Amino acid sequence: MKYFLVPFGCQMNLSDSERVRRVIESMGYSEAEKEEDAQLLGIIACSVRQKAIDRVYSRIHAWNLRKRKEPVLTFVSGCILEKDREKFLKLFDLVFTMGRLEELPEMIRTYGVTTPCSQNAASDRLLTEDSDTVPSKMSREENLLASEKLWHIQPRYISDFDAYVPIQNGCDKFCTYCAVPYTRGREVSRPSGEILAEVEDLMKKGYSSITLLGQNVNSYGKNARHLAGESEMSFAGLLERIGAMGTEISAVTGRPLWVYFTSPHPRDMSDDVIDIVAACPVLAKQIHLPLQSGSDEVLSRMNRNHRVDDYLRIVEKIRNTIPSATLFTDIIVGFTGETDEEFASTRRVMEDIGYDMAFIAQYSPRPGAVSAKWDDDVPHQVKKERFEILSGVLKETASRRNAARVGTETPVLITGMDRKPGFHTARTEGRINIRIPGTDPHLIGRILPAQIEKSNGLTLFGSLSVPSGNTPESPSHEGTQP
Ligand code: SF4
Repeated sequence: MKYFLVPFGCQMNLSDSERVRRVIESMGYSEAEKEEDAQLLGIIACSVRQKAIDRVYSRIHAWNLRKRKEPVLTFVSGCILEKDREKFLKLFDLVFTMGRLEELPEMIRTYGVTTPCSQNAASDRLLTEDSDTVPSKMSREENLLASEKLWHIQPRYISDFDAYVPIQNGCDKFCTYCAVPYTRGREVSRPSGEILAEVEDLMKKGYSSITLLGQNVNSYGKNARHLAGESEMSFAGLLERIGAMGTEISAVTGRPLWVYFTSPHPRDMSDDVIDIVAACPVLAKQIHLPLQSGSDEVLSRMNRNHRVDDYLRIVEKIRNTIPSATLFTDIIVGFTGETDEEFASTRRVMEDIGYDMAFIAQYSPRPGAVSAKWDDDVPHQVKKERFEILSGVLKETASRRNAARVGTETPVLITGMDRKPGFHTARTEGRINIRIPGTDPHLIGRILPAQIEKSNGLTLFGSLSVPSGNTPESPSHEGTQP
């Protein structure tokens, strides 16, 4: 029997999907390459963006058409708003929260391979059982219990060199444009012992890139509220421990490795986090710090709870302490009420900082978020123009920064084969994409020195400093996959 799983949305959903894979595979299912070969079809949904929800509907409609001809079982889990969940109950065989993932085998055994006529009965049962425990209604304690059940499940990592490790779930910040606090619930921190054990295991297996994940990684530990009542270490403390462990393991194995974290909130970005990243070689010199807007008025309407000056002070600290660090950000243009002057402030801040990468979004109300009730009053054409202006600023600043890297030698992580025949895709420690000539699949997953030869806007071009035949022995990934 085969399964096919479609994760939508952010890296947290991708990470959750790795735990779903493990549970399904423990039942004897294997992953299908094509969805038409699978009898079990699942989606890890994202209610945060309407587009992602629209894609869930088009997928399930196709699956339900298929179900008329052959027996398949469908399920959905993930980040789901209550109103979407109610609709999903009528469309999917199984709808469950991630906290109930460990019950999936029992649900599948109970319902078996359903037919259209058994579909509603299954859904009704789950509606009755689960309707009081959707994340939006969960207390912090309930979310902690549910999250801990999920974290205890060993993931089946998608990659054997690049892993995501959840350290937190939920969010307490309630930015007005965001629905995450309503889909993932109140913020809870994973016990540090579990995180350290998972990270150590990955490091010992030879993973080259490990990313600590959370909605607000740098408020880690603040809302630990462990069942046993003990307090938790801070994010800086956690990073320090992981950094020390990585440095030790890397020295023993002789293999470089990079540890990232995403996303921090500027409000919780303390100097000690930056100092620890600067001091520890395995903590990657790349910081993703969401700006969202360069206007205090817009930040206030977004409920970001910090001012532009606070943000600039953090950037100054990063630039002074870790000059080699790349700086990434997220920006929203055309948020409710954004005036020309407010947009001009964002443009100025962006030009002054000079990001290496910026994920720029044109504002659209997200169902379930506070601002969805407000007038979406910036015309589409204006949003588009602002988006294009900021994209131009990014291209200009990132090109300038990349041009300064030409002629230097830097380690790169080979991530795959490029679409252009004869080339590898790779990235620098600062997560700048670089194209490297080569066709050796054994190099994928390895960090190797490369010479940067050319820059073209957001992408670099280079070649390995050592011919691939002379590279040190490949790390062993034996045992990393079940
Ligand atoms: S910090 Fe804001 S944008 Fe990020 S997950 Fe929390 S509410 Fe959403």
